[in-house]
Amino acid sequence: MFATRFAPSPTGYLHMGHAFSAWTAFEAAQAAHGRFVLRIEDTDQTRCRPEYEAAIYEDLAWLGLEWEKPVRRQSAHMDDYGAALARLHEMGVLYRCFRTRKDLLDGLAAAPHGFSAPDIVAPISAAEEEDLLAQNKPYAWRLSLSRARARLGAEWEHLGFEANGIWIKAEPERLGDIVLARKEFPASYHLASVLDDGLQAITHVIRGEDLAEAAHIHVVLQALLGLPTPVYHHHRLILDAQGKRFAKRNQSVTLRSLRESGTSLDQIRARLGLSVA
Ligand code: GLU
Repeated sequence: MFATRFAPSPTGYLHMGHAFSAWTAFEAAQAAHGRFVLRIEDTDQTRCRPEYEAAIYEDLAWLGLEWEKPVRRQSAHMDDYGAALARLHEMGVLYRCFRTRKDLLDGLAAAPHGFSAPDIVAPISAAEEEDLLAQNKPYAWRLSLSRARARLGAEWEHLGFEANGIWIKAEPERLGDIVLARKEFPASYHLASVLDDGLQAITHVIRGEDLAEAAHIHVVLQALLGLPTPVYHHHRLILDAQGKRFAKRNQSVTLRSLRESGTSLDQIRARLGLSVA
């Protein structure tokens, strides 16, 4: 059965870009007589706030959306991500990376909007690793592409996905050895999101094109974890009057401020280029 999801992180109030994404996914589910799932991606408890989560439910209801209950809140399922990480560890496809905490935080829990150069860190020697562990140095778990490739064998050559109606051969090297977890933090966005899409039987991932690159590594995780690869649809990004992407820090364009200032749903839909009843 067709199933899609909207998976916001409660790190700020929802804005026009979220409205576009949520409506696009919701209407696709309706057209297919399928399921629409709302998932709260709140693994990073340092950035997520309960008032933002409450606002998500309120704002989406205002948009006229209905979603399956109960809502999966990732922070309540950290053990699941820990178990998936342990499985990958047993497969031998992870290695510890001891770069500084600041380096590690970049691109960990937050969805990686905007990707930098491929990040491949050579695994260090066993002796060096032992030494750093003895010093209690913080580390991250990275997915080794070379080991994943060896593990998947012939399957590696066929990894790919359908995005916007086109078959795309996966090029995980574009992202490199991504960080999947950190010593005291068992789940990156990549791991939690891929696992949950599988657990929630999501057949169609509909999200902004800023996350299009992520699919190249998500298919590797799906293959390793024995999960099916969904169909992807990466939609255009909604830009503000200055031609910039809406950012959560720009409070003036939140859905709640639009609602409070009396903007109607039809006005928002028209601004987003969506059909108005
Ligand atoms: N939680 C992510 C975000 O708020 C979205 C992840 C996804 O759709 O794959 O940007």
